[in-house]
Amino acid sequence: MDAILADIEQLVRCESPSAVLESVKRSADLVAAVGRHHLGADPEVLVVDEYPHLRWRFGPGQPRVLILAHHDTVWPLGSLETHPYNVTDGVLRGPGCFDMKAGLVLALHALAVLGVPDGVTLLVTGDEELGSPSSRALIEAEAAGCRAALVLEASADGGALKTARKGVSLYQVRAVGRAAHAGLEPERGVNATVELAHQVLAVAAVSDPSLGTTVTPTALSSGTVANTVPAAGAFSVDVRMWSVAEQARVHAAMSSLLPAVPDAVLEISGGPNRPPLPSSSSAALFARASSLAAELGLPPLQSAAVGGASDGNFTAGVGIPTLDGLGAVGGGAHADHEHVLIGALPGRAALIAALIDDLLTEGTA
Ligand SMILES: [Zn+2]
Repeated sequence: MDAILADIEQLVRCESPSAVLESVKRSADLVAAVGRHHLGADPEVLVVDEYPHLRWRFGPGQPRVLILAHHDTVWPLGSLETHPYNVTDGVLRGPGCFDMKAGLVLALHALAVLGVPDGVTLLVTGDEELGSPSSRALIEAEAAGCRAALVLEASADGGALKTARKGVSLYQVRAVGRAAHAGLEPERGVNATVELAHQVLAVAAVSDPSLGTTVTPTALSSGTVANTVPAAGAFSVDVRMWSVAEQARVHAAMSSLLPAVPDAVLEISGGPNRPPLPSSSSAALFARASSLAAELGLPPLQSAAVGGASDGNFTAGVGIPTLDGLGAVGGGAHADHEHVLIGALPGRAALIAALIDDLLTEGTA
């Protein structure tokens, strides 16, 4: 336990906001050093678009189990001042402790306990909170052919594993009209704001609450000054859904939006960002984890379906069985009350180790 806490403290004290490349690099160096200590090997450093991602592959041949973690956080530089690292009454606090530096440390300890078994790849990325623009292809390539992907993201309420995650699509809807003086001759203009008003309502109506599909118009801006008919404007759209079919339905609807204002032009960009992680991708692994938890004398495992996406969406999207939320027990990801319950850490490390061991010995016993 002391060693686990010391590692979490080191990582939390090294701030790593995803968008600050120098910080991500410094944190990656620290993760590499902590990993070397536990795993006895340096990682391969894979640099994509300047972002360093760390990969440890153990043993020859095709890896059978992929373990996924990220070391970047949503916390800006200076967060250690406002949210200092501390442990009080069994609760550990600090920026990024729950999402997901504690989970990363658990992975290192689980692998060390198992003697760093052959057949495992540990991939630690540095841009997850940005939507994994530079690591996505690595994640998908590394997952291909694996028996399972285990994602050490923070757990859901009460330590529940994340057995389903919604997919994400992102769009930008832009309207182009024509400027005119709003007092002298507004009839000569083509009003982009009015056009966007129609489209905001049309887009919101693509939602299907009965299926859990949300289509949410978000940031919007149009025009330049108060007395000119706006010549152009745009808004963003955040889409979440449980199924690939719904992702395709929304994409078709977004692609067929038509202008409502005469002479206005619509430009739709964007599309699917992360595929859903359906419960069918996680069911067998969850059943295994549940029986292992019982063998270890741990409380019964709970499962949760959540709206937020992770890199587990990518591994499920390429057809690899995926179990997510195996990391720390606690709460408050991305929020002021982010925390980790330290009493649950040893049991969690034991569960992760047992699951890796079980997956590696499958079919070879
Ligand atoms: Zn995370």
